[in-house]
Amino acid sequence: MKTLVHVEDHAVAQMMMAAIEAYEIKHRSSKRTKARDRIETFGLLWGYVVPTKDTIAAKIIVTHATIETSALRDEDSVTPDFESMQFKKAFMGKYWPNVELVGTFHSHPYGSVQKVKEVKGWQASIADTIFLPEVHEELAREQPHFAHLIVTVAKMSKSGWASPQRLSLASEEKAGYEITADDRKLWLRAYSSYFNYDEPEDDTEVDADGEEYDLEWDDETMDLDADLEVDNFKTPVWLEAHFNQEVELHIPSIERRFA
Ligand SMILES: [Zn+2]
Repeated sequence: MKTLVHVEDHAVAQMMMAAIEAYEIKHRSSKRTKARDRIETFGLLWGYVVPTKDTIAAKIIVTHATIETSALRDEDSVTPDFESMQFKKAFMGKYWPNVELVGTFHSHPYGSVQKVKEVKGWQASIADTIFLPEVHEELAREQPHFAHLIVTVAKMSKSGWASPQRLSLASEEKAGYEITADDRKLWLRAYSSYFNYDEPEDDTEVDADGEEYDLEWDDETMDLDADLEVDNFKTPVWLEAHFNQEVELHIPSIERRFA
């Protein structure tokens, strides 16, 4: 299922700053003996979703990004706090109801550009493909599509210059960008997750007397229209959120900022 993710200029700055801060700045803690850098960071994406219509792919518009400062952050993992994310969703819903929770972002810090290329570090890890749909399920069941952005950062030995490029692998060319910013390289790769509605495969059921009858589903509520006393019909359920790689990422401002 193809999904389009469109990120507005401000949100790009917020995500990049969070990823670079976590990567380059030492994070001190009175409880820890050693300050750490190259840690991952996690945040939420806000905006609105234009749902699928006929053959047109769903479009997720990201207008803002916020950082989960309470997330448990480490060199190779980041675990956000669900209570914090629920709070933010409720807070925004009450005071900024025009903006919806539309996704997540997190960073992948690497020691060198070579390492990123070796392991295709800009891509979602197996853990990401399991965890990110869970965040969607937990936080936004009402949202059929959710964006998941990964910002990968690696330091270069010296400052360089290159205009922003699409990702190098043909299979994911449209799903992300590679950017040079002073002495660091950044990769942006978009994924999504979506709910699939489990529609009954066959609308015809057979009652106890062997008579066939059709079940009518109300598309809005997905309730049975017919007031039938049957106990063997298939109740439609929201399935789990599915991870989706087939995403097109559009950041119109990227050329202007990093060229
Ligand atoms: Zn990840």
